[in-house]
Amino acid sequence: MKIINELQLSKELIRLPSVTPRDAGAIRFLSKKLKKLGFNCKILEFKDKKSKPIKNLYARIGKKQPNLCYAGHTDVVPPGNIRDWSVNPFKPLVKKNYLIGRGANDMKSSIACFIAAVSKFLQKNSSFNGSISFLITGDEEGYAINGTKKVVEYLRKRKERIDFCIVGEPTNPKRLGEMIKIGRRGSLSGKIEITGTQGHIAYPHLSNNPINTMVAICKKLKENKLDKGNKNFQPSNLEFTSINVDNKAHNVIPARVRAQFNIRYNNLHTSSSLKRRVNLIVKRISKKNKCNFKIDYMVNGDAFLTKPEKTVFMTQKIIKKVTKINPKLSTTGGTSDARFIRKISPCLEFGLVNKTMHRVDECVSLTDLRKLTKIYNHILIEYFK
Ligand SMILES: [Zn+2]
Repeated sequence: MKIINELQLSKELIRLPSVTPRDAGAIRFLSKKLKKLGFNCKILEFKDKKSKPIKNLYARIGKKQPNLCYAGHTDVVPPGNIRDWSVNPFKPLVKKNYLIGRGANDMKSSIACFIAAVSKFLQKNSSFNGSISFLITGDEEGYAINGTKKVVEYLRKRKERIDFCIVGEPTNPKRLGEMIKIGRRGSLSGKIEITGTQGHIAYPHLSNNPINTMVAICKKLKENKLDKGNKNFQPSNLEFTSINVDNKAHNVIPARVRAQFNIRYNNLHTSSSLKRRVNLIVKRISKKNKCNFKIDYMVNGDAFLTKPEKTVFMTQKIIKKVTKINPKLSTTGGTSDARFIRKISPCLEFGLVNKTMHRVDECVSLTDLRKLTKIYNHILIEYFK
């Protein structure tokens, strides 16, 4: 069996312009690679009426448990203006020890490192005690409707057991080895609409200005601290993202005002407990001011935490050995597909340095690529020991 080189494979993946929701052959390409290593590969295409069809891949080698899964995505964000790049984002180039291209750290190279690590592992341990699997989606950077969420449902229905999952998202702020993510905060967005009574600005007693009510609501929601955080999480936070009246007349009290907010919250809350809390405040103030209200919510995912256990500690030790940095166990940052996977398996996230992700000249150091492959390889060795 051939050992796969992570740099070579990263370049091959970056050359496929899989700007979300386009697949550009990336899933089929990975499926072929993994088949050559002996994996059983299943390409899962999901679609619905409102969204584009998306290809995903579930691949597994071995029939025994435990099943250690690697999860990642092949889709990337758009490059923006290509002329702002120093190279073509889809013609990866190595310059001064850095590989530059879209997906270099988020997260095609991480997938390449894990495959390289698996190829090395299988060469020495062809009959290991367990299974290795890949859960790869093409719908992480987009709407995440036909991606990991549906693959997880599919696996659950088939009673496919995953015992631990490593999500390869770029987790390190500046240097490889700084941060493992063991959970994520939840995210809830909401839209509030307050309706009063329109009228002449000179006769305020004949109208009911909904702006006053909205200002009181915003103030109350912002003043009420949600919590102080806990051992694993920073404090939850509500932030307003817009307040709109859209009134062009200087002599009219408007009838309606809308505001939008987002809450990033820890595991002391759920989306339902937060909705109840917001509803209560909006209702009370609107009622007092004789205004009508409407609230719409969008839940992006509840907060979750993988309680640090032996696989987390083992990974932490390996990272420290390879990088000489003791990684922090963190729950900071935005959401990721771990929010779906945690429903069927404990997971941790560890990948490359995220400093240049989603930016022009996204890049990864070749040293980091080698080190990450080594880390993943040692995880496989230790996990199946
Ligand atoms: Zn990503």
